[in-house]
Amino acid sequence: KKEKISNFIQDIIDKDTEENRYGKRVHTRFPPEPNGYLHIGHAKSICLNYGIAVYNNGKFNLRFDDTNPSKEEVEYVESIIEDVKWLGADWEDRLYYASDYFDRFYECAVQLIKMGKAYVCDLSPEEIREYRGTLTEPGKNSPYRDRSVEENLDLFTRMKNGEFEEGSKVLRAKIDMASPNLNMRDPVIYRIMKVEHHRTGNKWCIYPMYDFAHPLSDSFEGITHSICTLEFEDHRPLYNWFLETLDLECKSRQIEFARLNLTHTVMSKRKLLRLVKEGYVNGWDDPRMPTISGLRRRGYTPSSIREFCSRIGVAKNNSMVDIALLEHCIREELNAKAKRVMAVLDPLKVVIDNYPEDLVEEFEVTNNPEDPEAGKRKVPFSKVVYIERDDFCENPPKKYFRLAPGREVRLMGAYFIKCTDVVKDENTGEILEVHCTYDPESRGGNSPDGRKVRGTIHWVSEKHAVEAEVRLYDHLFSVPDPDSYKDGDFTDLINPDSLKVLKSCKLEPGLKDAKPGDMFQFIRLGYFCVDRVDSTEDAPVFNRTVSLKDTWSK
Ligand code: ATP
Ligand code: MG
Ligand code: MG
Repeated sequence: KKEKISNFIQDIIDKDTEENRYGKRVHTRFPPEPNGYLHIGHAKSICLNYGIAVYNNGKFNLRFDDTNPSKEEVEYVESIIEDVKWLGADWEDRLYYASDYFDRFYECAVQLIKMGKAYVCDLSPEEIREYRGTLTEPGKNSPYRDRSVEENLDLFTRMKNGEFEEGSKVLRAKIDMASPNLNMRDPVIYRIMKVEHHRTGNKWCIYPMYDFAHPLSDSFEGITHSICTLEFEDHRPLYNWFLETLDLECKSRQIEFARLNLTHTVMSKRKLLRLVKEGYVNGWDDPRMPTISGLRRRGYTPSSIREFCSRIGVAKNNSMVDIALLEHCIREELNAKAKRVMAVLDPLKVVIDNYPEDLVEEFEVTNNPEDPEAGKRKVPFSKVVYIERDDFCENPPKKYFRLAPGREVRLMGAYFIKCTDVVKDENTGEILEVHCTYDPESRGGNSPDGRKVRGTIHWVSEKHAVEAEVRLYDHLFSVPDPDSYKDGDFTDLINPDSLKVLKSCKLEPGLKDAKPGDMFQFIRLGYFCVDRVDSTEDAPVFNRTVSLKDTWSK
């Protein structure tokens, strides 16, 4: 499964290998914070990190960046493990938790204090911000900056022992308050948080900051190339400062790339969490969500997501990717793989008056014209069939070639039928059923006299039909870029028609054996899969993965 990689990250790796910076080693990691479910942006990072490891005969770690207990939960850890595995990235026996390094982080902090490179600071968070200065103004030294090593060691020990209130003290690296890079102006490296951690319980009441924990974790694990998103570019000098000051053996190299942004959705975990918590969607795995679990439930395959990630590539500047490209990737795969079946979503009953009452015929149809190996199957036909309500029109406009009074169409693979009568509800005028006659000579869908019909429509035999619920999905947001909306809340832009539920759809009988996750093309309608959560044998539920029409261009 080794895929050729050529991008600026691989170029850096090639150069490092040439210069023997890490010997011949290449070791990457994917470091999610377990504060939400993974989304398609994370998939980009997973495919990139894992792909690079495989391509370079290297190693790949999965590491939970679980150093901030306030927003983290075990549920997220479990979902992340499932999703990374499902995508096909294999960490083998290298699953790590940054929280397993809490003792080592602490020792490193003590070492910095002993070196005179860290101090306990009593400024409030607001004061720290004030003292930091701005891009145009240098910062001011904290009045606590010159505490002695002994005093710092004593205070830091007591911070760890829980003697101080949250927010009353922090540990800061002593670097340079006049640095042009704000991240280097004595950044906070430990804070007091009297919060239980999902793995370490109440052992700790001080927790390390990301900028301190991340380079250390990378180095402890022997990560050679620490790939992260662009917003960390300005943090790189600090990342290097920790590795150098602590003289850690593995000097991991941080490389930044552009995060994925997709149209018609949001990707920040804060926003996704709001969609879930406030009930705009039915959970993290709602098929409209850009989460991996949502995409899986929607009918996306791991390979279609990997294909998408490979097509978008990696770059050094942020951009927006059209969600139509993601849809294109699954459509292309399903076109090649999915079995074609007949399903009627909005059923209208058609009675074939001259067809024998109890006769059932079976027609052999092709499972997938794109795949000769897929074979054929038999579909039963009888006197009453369902067709789509919009495949019939009582007063057809000029270019309407489907069924209409006096008009003849082909029931796909079966017979020509001609409409003779329409039965309506006396009060509402709603069309209840349509009556037709069939031409026995057109068996199989062609007439021996060479007579042509313009329309071919799909159908399902009434007495054989499987009844199902079908869910049609559209973009979750009506506008391409909901993140840029500043006049109100992003939830204002949710597409009110993003979910449409159809209750009594009629499917060809073979579909009663479909299993959760199975995928099909419903002929003329799109690609659908059996819902993995709500579908039962007695009450099947199908999700539309993607329509047939490809809107991807470029
Ligand atoms: P958020 O800011 O929404 O909380 P995050 O980036 O903090 O998201 P993490 O769990 O820390 O989420 O991310 C794990 C890894 O996935 C990081 O290396 C991060 O850079 C990467 N990542 C997150 N979002 C994207 C994205 N949209 N595109 C590419 N990589 C991403
Ligand atoms: Mg985050
Ligand atoms: Mg993060």
